[in-house]
Amino acid sequence: MIKRQIYMDAHATTPVDPRVLETMLPTFTERFGNAASRHVFGWDAERAVDLAREQVAALIGASPKEIIFTSGATESNNLAIKGAAEFGREHGDHIVTQATEHRAVLDPCRTLERRGYRVTCLPVDRYGRVSAEQVREALTDKTVLVSIMAANNEVGTLQPVREIGRVCKEKGVLFHTDATQGVGRVEIHVEEMGIDLLSLSAHKIYGPKGVGALYIRGRRPRARIAAQMDGGGHERGLRSGTLNVPGIVGLGKACEVCGQEMNAEGERMRGLRDRLGDGITGQLSDVYLNGHPEERLPGNLNLSFAHVEGGLLLIGLKEIALSSGSACTSATLEPSHVLRALGVGDDLAHSSLRFGLGRFNTEEEVDYVVGRVVQEVTRLREMWTAHRSEGAVLKTA
Ligand SMILES: *Cc1c(COP(=O)(O)O)cnc(C)c1O
Repeated sequence: MIKRQIYMDAHATTPVDPRVLETMLPTFTERFGNAASRHVFGWDAERAVDLAREQVAALIGASPKEIIFTSGATESNNLAIKGAAEFGREHGDHIVTQATEHRAVLDPCRTLERRGYRVTCLPVDRYGRVSAEQVREALTDKTVLVSIMAANNEVGTLQPVREIGRVCKEKGVLFHTDATQGVGRVEIHVEEMGIDLLSLSAHKIYGPKGVGALYIRGRRPRARIAAQMDGGGHERGLRSGTLNVPGIVGLGKACEVCGQEMNAEGERMRGLRDRLGDGITGQLSDVYLNGHPEERLPGNLNLSFAHVEGGLLLIGLKEIALSSGSACTSATLEPSHVLRALGVGDDLAHSSLRFGLGRFNTEEEVDYVVGRVVQEVTRLREMWTAHRSEGAVLKTA
């Protein structure tokens, strides 16, 4: 019998929604045109791209002209951060970010540091939050960019984006947010939140992999960045390269579905997440929540299990797709920089599990996962206790 597999890792990626796939399919075959071509095939592709641009813009309260299509959030972050730094070089050389950002933000910042920019990386509180006050205090007259994520991909913590946006507006500093985990899951509105640059990715919101977008504020005041890709001048010269029409169409449809279903889906995710969390903590002691108890993504649960080896736990639960708080690099087992920034000790970081609930998870799956997690943690803790008392016996003998 094939053992059932359960996917509960929605922060890593999500499956393409069937409605999204259906919209994409004709663009591989009949509607295959190059959106830059000036003939019927090209115009048809261009129309499909225009619609997608409207759908993406509508989800975040932007206007279609403010959307640039990219290959995903990593590229959008690189374009926003390096592009804003390069464009602002005459005015300043200082960037503000924070410790729990995705590597697709931290690494471009590091690259800029090597190029002579100065980067302030703000610490977070034990829940993973920075405050607008911290951002305000970090700003200097040389600051050209603030980059703070909307929602964290490991612990789900939501940052006070609106308040940070207000501080940046007051000081006239560009505000970029990596909203890859936030868009489509929680309310994000670029006007109301004072966001100048926003990164998003299709594959985290039930769209295809390899496509994303960067929102660039078009007015009041216009955000200016330097292109990081030279070529045919596509996307108003900001991102050259033939448009990935199937991907873009998929991203558009994914945004439309999220816009229609986000509120109901958020409620459902919160319900499943609480059922999962309550189920586990109701039956196990010494389990700790990582991240903020309320200000967090509805589908995120990140727990540390004391007295358990995280690697063994993941192996024991191998029919469930989950992530742990350790990044397996070539030789060493490094605790995640996110949990470290929250002040979680190495042992509890190694014994953490990230549950990412998504659109296609069911109550039945949640109940199964609760049962299996309780069973595995109990088994591993019994082994650990047995091992310890054996050790004690050996010592006294
Ligand atoms: C997944 C993710 C990224 C990277 O997105 P890609 O589209 O895979 O490049 C960046 N930031 C956050 C917060 C993410 O969760």
